[in-house]
Amino acid sequence: MTRHEILTSPDLTSLRTAELRRDFKQKIPELLELERLIRQYPQHLHARTEILLKNNALEFPLYSVTLGSEKPDAPTLLLTGGMHGIERIGSQVLIAWLHTLLERLNWDEHLQQLLSHIQLVLLPILNPAGMYLNQRANGNGVDLNRNAPIDAEGRVPLLGGGHRLGPFLPWYRGRKRGQMEAENIALEQVLQRQIFNRPFAAVLDLHSGLGMQDRLWFPHAYRKKAIGNIAQYVALKLLWERTYPNHTYLFEPQSIHYLSHGDLWDYFYYQSRAQNQPHFLPLTLEMGSWMWVKKSPRQLFNMAGLFNPQIQHRHSRVLRRHILLLDFIVAATLNHKNWLPDEKQTGIFNQTAKSLWF
Ligand SMILES: [Zn+2]
Repeated sequence: MTRHEILTSPDLTSLRTAELRRDFKQKIPELLELERLIRQYPQHLHARTEILLKNNALEFPLYSVTLGSEKPDAPTLLLTGGMHGIERIGSQVLIAWLHTLLERLNWDEHLQQLLSHIQLVLLPILNPAGMYLNQRANGNGVDLNRNAPIDAEGRVPLLGGGHRLGPFLPWYRGRKRGQMEAENIALEQVLQRQIFNRPFAAVLDLHSGLGMQDRLWFPHAYRKKAIGNIAQYVALKLLWERTYPNHTYLFEPQSIHYLSHGDLWDYFYYQSRAQNQPHFLPLTLEMGSWMWVKKSPRQLFNMAGLFNPQIQHRHSRVLRRHILLLDFIVAATLNHKNWLPDEKQTGIFNQTAKSLWF
């Protein structure tokens, strides 16, 4: 398979009419920027259109981009963004980081060597129709991160925890016993094809929420009980905090904040378990958008402003801010053998988790 054979969609942009191109440029410039990178660096990446999503006579490609080692047992990092269409800053952070990575691959032998030992899989725009429509939900009005077939054990926040009242309200889960939405099925296929079969895989899913601080969340979202491999999460948290003591991400289980129905990473975690994958560590980055709002309160009156920095210097700062974290997760994935806890440490880290959170 050549690198271009699986690459169908970037041709789509050239097929689009000038009018459509203008429309996309205005409403979803992130997609055009991703396509530009795919076209510009074919020597470094495999791109693939996982699905073409149809919405009101428009078609939106859901792209995956793969870089690095093609060895089937190479450790793998999956990076996803834009699951909630309005949180476009997550997609922008990933695309900006991908740009830097691709450009460095042209001249940085150290990076070339690093990537020959690890597989990187990026889906920077998981919900292109929602992003085009500037809404949290996908084109069908379903919240992709409330849509997995898993119910919370315990009380969830009214509406926000997921509901089945209908797509006219945010956080709609979709119909009971219905299939997952096409975007989620496509993501699951990527996981089956490139992630679950790996001895070690980590995930970073980028969001922006209404908090003061940047948070790194790990499952569960559906129950308060600690996740099976909590010791590995504690090890990763300590590794991060020891290595970058000046960084201020809060690293916590999501369940200490609220429970929710249909969380995708809960669901995929148990899928990976069912396939006996030894290490599958999904993390969600919730960029704290109150930091941006506080500094320009007018953003309060603008939905996009609640979830995305609006002023140029602040926007650039956010694009830079998380580079260190992304580089760290690449290194931690590649070098997992040097920090995963052994049996004795597992006992200690289980205790640590209990005293921190449970
Ligand atoms: Zn989100």
